[in-house]
Amino acid sequence: MPTYTVHAVNVGSFPLGETDKVLTIFSAERGIIRAVAKGARKPGSKIAGRADVLNVNKLLLATGKTFEIISQAENVETFPNVRKNLDRLSYCLYYAELTHHFGLGLSDESASYFHFLCDSLRAQGKGSVDAGTLCLIFELKLLEWLGYQPELDCCVVCRDALTEYRIAMFHFESGGIVCDRCSRLEQRAKVAEGGSYGAPRLSIYSKESVQITPFVWKRLILAAGETLLTEAAGNDNSAVLLRANQAARRIIQSYIEYRAGKKMKSLELIGKL
Ligand SMILES: [Zn+2]
Repeated sequence: MPTYTVHAVNVGSFPLGETDKVLTIFSAERGIIRAVAKGARKPGSKIAGRADVLNVNKLLLATGKTFEIISQAENVETFPNVRKNLDRLSYCLYYAELTHHFGLGLSDESASYFHFLCDSLRAQGKGSVDAGTLCLIFELKLLEWLGYQPELDCCVVCRDALTEYRIAMFHFESGGIVCDRCSRLEQRAKVAEGGSYGAPRLSIYSKESVQITPFVWKRLILAAGETLLTEAAGNDNSAVLLRANQAARRIIQSYIEYRAGKKMKSLELIGKL
């Protein structure tokens, strides 16, 4: 069987047979791969610890029929600080869930994305920047990689430049902001149609859009320009800014879930706490 080496983050798994696990990994070399970790569910087995989600390993893989087979695993990083904090762990599991879902679309830039994912997990472990703010930066960068970067500079309908006096909605299908004028026109058209006839240009009052305030819009623009390395987003931890960042993050999470066509589960726990 041909073998090859990869460096990869574990982003998901499911049980196989009595004692095995199939890992979904995101590798620097080949993007998403599914590989069998033999004996990973046997207590005390060497591979068990390496098969945990979020672990980074150097793996020797053999090409299999349905899944690759892990012949050797060397642990590279485990992010212990992330695992000590439920809040940060939830965000990191969310990164894994997003990578699992969107990973196939990232294979052309697998090396860059792999390093970005590791940097993002490390930044959560460091704990110096608010967890939600880091997550917002992660989400916006992921969207950029996937070609779904939100349009924040001009209205997605009329293409006029946006100002803080002209912000109305974030529209998921169009992937950006709708200005107040287009939003009003749409509302009138909807009323004229009696609310139920014909297909409106934008279904602004459905689940496909949410209201956005000028302050939250500004936070989005700032976060879109941030990198994890500058950490400038985290230098100001005032309660007002953190709330605005959280509001911005909820909009972007809804946009991501709209693109994914499903709800992400990892952050449900945070919502309940
Ligand atoms: Zn407009």
